[in-house]
Parts: sequence; structure tokens; C-alpha cells
Amino acid sequence: MRTASVRLQGLDTSIFAQMSALAARTGAVNLGQGFPDADGPSEVIEQAMRAMRDGHNQYAPGLGIPELRAAIARHQQRHHGLVVDPETEVVVATGATEAIAAAVLGLVDPGDEVVVFAPYYDSYPAMIQMAGAVRRTVTLRAPDFRLPVDELRAAIGPRTRAILLNTPHNPTGVVLRDDELAAIADVAREHDLVVISDEVYEHLVFDDHRHIPIASLPGMAERTLTISSAGKTFSFTGWKVGWATGPAPLVDSVMRAKQWLSYTSGTPFQHAVAWALDHADADVVALRDDLQVRRDHLCAGLAEIGFDVTVPEGTYFTTTDIRPLGFDDGLQLCLDLPRLAGVVAVPHQVFHDDVDAGRPFLRWAFCKRPEVLDDALARLASLASHRG
Ligand code: PMP
Ligand code: GLN
Repeated sequence: MRTASVRLQGLDTSIFAQMSALAARTGAVNLGQGFPDADGPSEVIEQAMRAMRDGHNQYAPGLGIPELRAAIARHQQRHHGLVVDPETEVVVATGATEAIAAAVLGLVDPGDEVVVFAPYYDSYPAMIQMAGAVRRTVTLRAPDFRLPVDELRAAIGPRTRAILLNTPHNPTGVVLRDDELAAIADVAREHDLVVISDEVYEHLVFDDHRHIPIASLPGMAERTLTISSAGKTFSFTGWKVGWATGPAPLVDSVMRAKQWLSYTSGTPFQHAVAWALDHADADVVALRDDLQVRRDHLCAGLAEIGFDVTVPEGTYFTTTDIRPLGFDDGLQLCLDLPRLAGVVAVPHQVFHDDVDAGRPFLRWAFCKRPEVLDDALARLASLASHRG
């Protein structure tokens, strides 16, 4: 009996699930999967409980409850100056993951090409494959992981349908600058492409870096789907409330695909996120400030141990080059790390088509309590004695 469809061929268990399972099995400190180990604001939890007690426990409308769609529209206007109609230009999804899936399935045909930037978030190639489409990968290369505009241009062909973008970028922590966004926008307009922009880390940006949604560039609002999620913004990754905003015809395609995936998304959490978007800006700023301190702490600690550290401009993640410690294969080191040091990280190379480009890099999550980061750093201090 055949047990898996061809469309799943080559799609392994997500590295995040693999690495969390490895941490659980070995008792290692988990700096692999990107989830905070502390809850988001307690008032937001109260709102979810209140919604349940108030009887908001049945199916929500497919597009999402009107209160949440209106709050998302206000959020886009307040933070980014983007004007979207909550009736037709916002769709709620079960996490950004579902929004990405529905966007790809709803907008891309078999044989179409989708441009992605590597290292990529692992759901992108999976969904492109499930849609029967072809990915064209543009590699962000060390040491600075900036956008190679010429390579982007070279990746576009007659079958290109969409560019799937992620800024702030997981795993490198790069926040795309004005000139990089302008270059992508030029290409998208010239070739009449859809841009699917994954901005789940939109509020987790450090120092004086700034997140700019590509939809806010001239001529881009009409061709861009902007995706985000309450998981990262409010530290509730398990609630799985995400959304997409954009022009009505694109949002309608997402909605039509989404209705056959989850039909609708969890009702009480939508009520709580609607409240949070309107009332919890200060908590989000506090989270960002706090994450910046933890970023600095982890980066300094990893540098002291001997890694070559890339300080991220945004996200939950720091990247290190492992070669100064004598190692050269990140995947192998991640598999060995629980035994060598009792810590789990994530290798970049699984997010690349050009595996060599990612081989010497590891991603470390700093969205963990300070004592957990301290514990991880103390454990890693012995690593130099195991030089590869
Ligand atoms: N995109 C990126 C870049 C991510 O890092 C993640 C992980 N949280 C997601 C999408 C998925 O978000 P969600 O948990 O809301 O599905
Ligand atoms: N976004 C999280 C990360 O990058 C993981 C989410 C998941 O496991 N799908 O670590």
C-alpha cells in the first residue's frame, strides 16, 4: 500500500519539530524552535477566557470575526499607514502558516514559479511543492545576508507568478532596507508579479532598524499580500491566530483556499487578539525592548565562547558561524550538540538549496528567559574543548 502522496516526496519532518523532540529526549536546553518560554500579557489571556465564558465558542465567519478584522485594519493603518477595508481586504487564518499555505494554494498554479530567498522558512518550499509549482531560490549569503538584486532579477522568468518574501527575516535576523525593498518592488511591478510578504516579526525589530511593509511602496498595495501573526507579536505562538491583508481579489483567493483547509480559525482567540491589537501596544514595545537585551546577552555569550556572531536586526534569532570553533557542518553539530553541551540549536543548511551556503551556520533562539540563556551559555562554554 502506498502511504504518502507524491506531493509529499522529500518533505521531511520540520526541523523545528525534530529539534524540539531532540531537546525533549535528551534534556537539552532548547534554543532551537522559536517560541517564547514565558506567556504574553495576562490581560490578553483574560480576554480569551472571557470570550469562552461569554459563549464565543462556535464557528467564526470564514474571513474571521468582524471585530478582529477591524482591529487588524486599524493596526495596519496605525503602524504602517496601510489602508485596508476590513470587509474585503483582511482574512484571518490559523497562524501565519495557514495564511502562507492558502496564499500559495490560492494564487499559484502547477508549473508556475515562485521566487524565495534562502535561507527560507521551511513552509515555503513545502507549500510551493504541494501546489505543484517550482521554486526559484535567491540565496542571501554570509557574512551580511543582504539581498543580491542581480540574482533576484536573474531568477525571474516567463513562468514567475510570485515573490515570497520574509522581513524581518528568519533565520538571519536581517530587516530589509528601503533600497532592497525598492528593488523587489521594481521587479514585481516590471513583471506584474504578486508579492506574498511574511512579516510575522514586524514588531520585533531592534536598535534603530525599521520594518517597512513592502505593500507601503508605490504601486505595491495592489499586488501585495501582507501576512502576520499574533503568535510573535504577543508571545502566544500556540494560539495560531494569523492574518493576511491586501487587495480584495488576492484576499478572496486566500479565503477560497483557506475555507478548504481549516474552514475557520479558533473563535475565542480571535476575540482576545482583537482586544490585544487595540490595547496592548505598550506590551509589544516592552517585549521588543526585553528581547533586545536578551539578544545582546546571547550574542555576547556566544562570541565569548568563540563563535563568529551575526547580531540580528530583528526576529527571535541569532546566527553564528561555527568554523572558528573548528566545526564545519552545522547539521552534524546540531545533532551532536545535546551530547557535547546539552543544548539544541537549528542548522541553516536545511533552509537552503545551495547547502554549502548554509553549512557553517547555526540559528539560536533568544526568546527564552534570561536564566535559560545563562544555562545554555554555561553549558556551551565546554564546547571549545570538543573542537571539531
Ligand atoms: N513565518 C515565519 C518567518 C516564522 O518564523 C513563523 C514561525 N512562527 C511563521 C511564519 C509561522 O507563524 P504561525 O505560528 O503564526 O503559523
Ligand atoms: N517559527 C518557529 C521557528 O522558526 C517555528 C514554528 C514551527 O515549528 N513551525 O522556530
